[in-house]
Amino acid sequence: MADVVVIGAGAFGLSVALHCALRDRSVVVVERTTAGSQASGRAAGLFKSVQADAQRTALARRSVDKVLRFEDWTGVPLDVRRSGSVLIARTGKHKAILREEARRSRAWGVELSETSPAGRAGCYRAEGSELAVWCPEDVYIEEPDGLIQAYLAACRRHDVRILEHEPAVAVTTSGRRVVGVETAHNQIDAGVVVDAAGAWVRQVAEMARGPFPRTKVPVAPFRHQLLITEPTADVLETDPVVRVIDAAVYLRPARGGLMVGVFEADPLPLDPRLQADAFSSDDIPLDLDLLRKQAGLVADEVPLAARAAVAEHRGGLCTMTPDGRFVAGPIPDVPGLWVASGCNVSGFSFSPAIGEALADWIIDGHPSAGLETLGPARFGPVTDEQLIREGAWQYAHFYDSAPN
Ligand SMILES: Cc1cc2nc3c(=O)[nH]c(=O)nc-3n(C[C@H](O)[C@H](O)[C@H](O)COP(=O)(O)OP(=O)(O)OC[C@H]3O[C@@H](n4cnc5c(N)ncnc54)[C@H](O)[C@@H]3O)c2cc1C
Repeated sequence: MADVVVIGAGAFGLSVALHCALRDRSVVVVERTTAGSQASGRAAGLFKSVQADAQRTALARRSVDKVLRFEDWTGVPLDVRRSGSVLIARTGKHKAILREEARRSRAWGVELSETSPAGRAGCYRAEGSELAVWCPEDVYIEEPDGLIQAYLAACRRHDVRILEHEPAVAVTTSGRRVVGVETAHNQIDAGVVVDAAGAWVRQVAEMARGPFPRTKVPVAPFRHQLLITEPTADVLETDPVVRVIDAAVYLRPARGGLMVGVFEADPLPLDPRLQADAFSSDDIPLDLDLLRKQAGLVADEVPLAARAAVAEHRGGLCTMTPDGRFVAGPIPDVPGLWVASGCNVSGFSFSPAIGEALADWIIDGHPSAGLETLGPARFGPVTDEQLIREGAWQYAHFYDSAPN
């Protein structure tokens, strides 16, 4: 028995579990494989304060604050790199977008300044005509597993039970509400069940059988991939994160080399519901040629990005939503069932704030200001085709989406 059962031990699930435990709820997390083994353990680890709206900016900054002070509120140390970041616009259109974004973000409290990229942008050799915006408050976590292990240690300090290799097979119901979770090995009774199953979030929500409408979580999973080059003297550990907007490329120091991630213009949707039961992130088809071709868009300024020897190439599935915002809140018409998803390639960095806000909502019975707008009911009925089409647009426009 527990007050709360969380399904999925990724960044979202562990953060919700930890924040519920910090408010004295008994919590069990069930994980199909091992904690952090799917999207969360593959992330680039970047935290970005400049966001498209005031709510996401506030949540992003709250998350940065929470990871920088992680030991204060959990008792567990966490290594966070205070690198700062540089946003670079090279076309007229992207300069206008960046100027507008910087103006709005300053109004929401983000510390930003225009800068010469040559002076600030680490491995990026400026051509000279770019607009560069320096954000000193951005951070990253070198290895994504660092945050997962810190969450796990903090969860255990606060008596959260983490059950790995324990897939949820049913969300049990009685009458008109959820009363627990059945796993391959156990039945756990709980009045609150949180679906934080990442790319599997839809089939987990549909495990709730009862007098409910077919439960639909409005997300579509897409592939996202990055590479890390072999170590090189051209990259300094102290270099900032660099994001080049028109190329949709991000760069940061990693293990003595350079991390290069791209947002593909035509991203690959991948639905685990259509795959074998055993499907995992290890089965995602990766495409190094495509990644390097897109990295080639910054080859003049960062020759390394397109041609250095690759030490690691990894990828995972990210849950995209039609409006690019998270899906966090109660599933309508299924009392007791909650969801934390719709990561939009930002769930790693937003997990501290989303976990905190969702736990408060579960326990207090009402959302903190504005959070109700993230609830899964906001889209009304949507088809899978629409989710894929609109999710692909959000993915491809990760750096230049208009404000919602
Ligand atoms: C290459 C890459 C780079 C990224 N870079 C960044 C970044 O720099 N910054 C950022 O903020 N975000 C980044 N992201 C996105 C980030 O990784 C995701 O937003 C985040 O990890 C989502 O967390 P999650 O908990 O929803 O999903 P996951 O980490 O996938 O966790 C879901 C868990 O649920 C489990 N599960 C599924 N079904 C069941 C079941 N039936 N029973 C029990 N457990 C189940 C899965 O095994 C999994 O462990 C990146 C993603 C990728 C792929």
